[in-house]
Amino acid sequence: MLSRELLTPTEGALLLAPEWLMLPEGARQGMAVLVRGGRFEAVAPLEELRAAHPALSPIELPQHLLMPGLVDTHTHLTQSFGKSLAFGEPSEIFRRIWVPMESVLDADAAYLSTKLSALEALRGGFTTVVDAGTRSEAGLDGVVAAVRDTGIRCVLGMICNDAALAADDEAGRRRILDTAQGFLAQYEHDALLHPSLAISIPEAATDHMLHDVAALTRESGRRFQTHVNEHLAAVERALVARGLRPLELLHACGALNESALLAHATLLTPREMGLLRDSGAAVAYNPVASAWKGNAVLDAGVIAMLGVPFGLGTDGTRADGFRLMDAAETTQRLTHGLANGDSSCGGGWLWLDHATHGGARAAGLGAITGRIAPGLAADFLLVDLDVPEFMPSWDLSWELVRYGNRDQIRAVFVNGAMRLWQGWPVDWDGRALMRQVAEIARRDVQRAPIQRVHPVADVHRAQQLARR
Ligand SMILES: [Zn+2]
Repeated sequence: MLSRELLTPTEGALLLAPEWLMLPEGARQGMAVLVRGGRFEAVAPLEELRAAHPALSPIELPQHLLMPGLVDTHTHLTQSFGKSLAFGEPSEIFRRIWVPMESVLDADAAYLSTKLSALEALRGGFTTVVDAGTRSEAGLDGVVAAVRDTGIRCVLGMICNDAALAADDEAGRRRILDTAQGFLAQYEHDALLHPSLAISIPEAATDHMLHDVAALTRESGRRFQTHVNEHLAAVERALVARGLRPLELLHACGALNESALLAHATLLTPREMGLLRDSGAAVAYNPVASAWKGNAVLDAGVIAMLGVPFGLGTDGTRADGFRLMDAAETTQRLTHGLANGDSSCGGGWLWLDHATHGGARAAGLGAITGRIAPGLAADFLLVDLDVPEFMPSWDLSWELVRYGNRDQIRAVFVNGAMRLWQGWPVDWDGRALMRQVAEIARRDVQRAPIQRVHPVADVHRAQQLARR
């Protein structure tokens, strides 16, 4: 059975011979990859690798594509209990749903919530997720444990907000920075957990904290995460509180540098576009989040033209990598492409590139993952192409963006280890987790001070009918 062959390497190595191999320049045939020690040891024509490694029998994968695992450059792993509670709600759901919900999570709940998020991400083809930091006081240890247990690659943010401290609480600020430094040091050499620092939104920290956190991440080669210019309400809040728009505020306190990974950046003035380009900062483009809870869409075409590193992000909406690529293209087309007659709108490849190696670069992991290349981590997907939607196939890159579906992902590998087979974990019980989550999520949502504007859909319908 194929899954057994893939789970039991010969002499610690897997020689994989897929019908198609997705390289940065496009899909290729007749190629093979040698996976050993968690990495791609070699990527070359099959005959070459067969001759070089006569002791290894290649695992033939007819009608399969081996492609890089996808990168979710912006998510919230401890929000998975909320799900459809946020649907149809006005833009700033973090204030009324997410912060109240995350604040009641204890360490066990944070663990379960993260584990569910990680399972969903892996099922959706994401081998790497960038977490913007939990608001659960007890959360970080639970998040780390769940990341470990699922084996997903994670850029994990530690929140360093200090605006709630008294203006003269220097000791409190020192404690935050010391903890941040300790966090970066603790995971400095970790294979799968990549530490990062976060400030939820620029107004949640003082100028000094913004500056110091961004300086720490730049010095350590890590990512500084924050949400900028997402909603009109957020832009106006920053203008009222600090006299500057969020991205301008980062710039003014010296926090807009090449270590920054900015989520959303949907409402950028031309000046802010220039500041962004000159800073070297990266952006997470979250098309589904814009559709579900935003009031603007980033022009990813302009961002690409300016050379700003960017990846695609879910922002915790739905962890489905193929649908995210589709949404990235469709959203760009509806909001920018239609108006200026851009029928190509990224040509398919733009979205595939930024879901893989472009996303890895934005996440600060360009030298670690995102490509099938010798020396990089073996983070990859085996995708079944023997489905009606890919028959006949004329243009695999475009087809992945518009036809690709989660149910085609047969295997998910992270760091050379198979984590899922046919959508389910190979070494732990995904369904048992779901039973546990159902119970704990109900308890936590009930006790969280969540404020929703709309009732659930069926009650909403009944209300509308009664009013007629
Ligand atoms: Zn977010």
